[in-house]
Amino acid sequence: MSGRIRVTLLAGGVGGAKMAEGFAACDAVELSVIGNVADDAEFHGLWVSPDIDTMLYTLSGRINRDQGWGVADEGQRALDVLDELGADTWMFLGDKDFGLHIYRTDRMRHGHRPQDITRDIAERFGIAARVLLPTDDQVQTRVKTPDGWLGFQEYFVRQRCEPMVTDIVFEGIGDALPTTEALDALEQADLIVIAPSNPLVSIAPILSVGGIEEAIRAARAPVIAVSPLIAGRVVKGPADRMMRAMGMRADAVGVAQRYADLADALVIDHADEALVDEIDASGVQAICRDILMPDATAKERFANDLIAIYRQGLGDAAA
Ligand code: GDP
Repeated sequence: MSGRIRVTLLAGGVGGAKMAEGFAACDAVELSVIGNVADDAEFHGLWVSPDIDTMLYTLSGRINRDQGWGVADEGQRALDVLDELGADTWMFLGDKDFGLHIYRTDRMRHGHRPQDITRDIAERFGIAARVLLPTDDQVQTRVKTPDGWLGFQEYFVRQRCEPMVTDIVFEGIGDALPTTEALDALEQADLIVIAPSNPLVSIAPILSVGGIEEAIRAARAPVIAVSPLIAGRVVKGPADRMMRAMGMRADAVGVAQRYADLADALVIDHADEALVDEIDASGVQAICRDILMPDATAKERFANDLIAIYRQGLGDAAA
């Protein structure tokens, strides 16, 4: 045995990748990340997987740090040509990024498993963590707005998350089978962490793949979730507005209620200390820490805080 702690992280894009980067910096951790494929969409004949790519770019140090997504030092000559030719170019795809999408799409057309393709990209990019897909099948988030149903990227990028979301579906979820890699990572984990990702459109599509929730419940590892909301607000993105529109409380209590039947503990910010009793009452143990991760130091420090909570035993780490 390596003696390292096997952490399996459920993660979306930007918030998920921050948490993953923190764990990847911990020598004591052997990291597996189960990412979100429901944001995937086809552009210009290429299969784009925004959350998985954010994870790959972050863990390989290629990410554009100012944006939190996309590749650093990126060009847009390919997109300019598409624009000149009259193609729809509202989804920004940089030149280097196009290379990844071409590679993925070509291998998919040859019948390769998306999980194998992702594993190979991670390996070539020098990523030590295992980047796993919850399913090899295609699942696509669609959101209902006052103007009708939209594909997730149409809502998120084209319409800048402006429309109110009144319903969410994951098309294809009923037929999606879990990957054995994801199930194994849950079974073998010492600690399962739900990243501070959007609960409704990043974490829910992972949990909705048949067999994933069951594997988490059957796992021997404790499950710790991290709140993406601090003082009732998101750090970035539409999670708070979405939660409110979907009839949930848009604060750490709402997150706790969402994960109540799955998580043992929810780590919230010190700013939300006043919510501890209400969270405990929802059946999830509240633990207060500094959960904002603005830079590499904070990410690593917070990942180490979670490891310390695990080592201490959840009950002893209470608020
Ligand atoms: P997306 O798929 O790119 O939207 O990314 P995720 O779903 O993984 O992450 C979005 C969530 O991350 C938002 O709800 C943010 O509030 C949350 N988030 C971003 N940065 C931080 C941070 O430093 N700390 C915490 N606790 N949450 C964060």
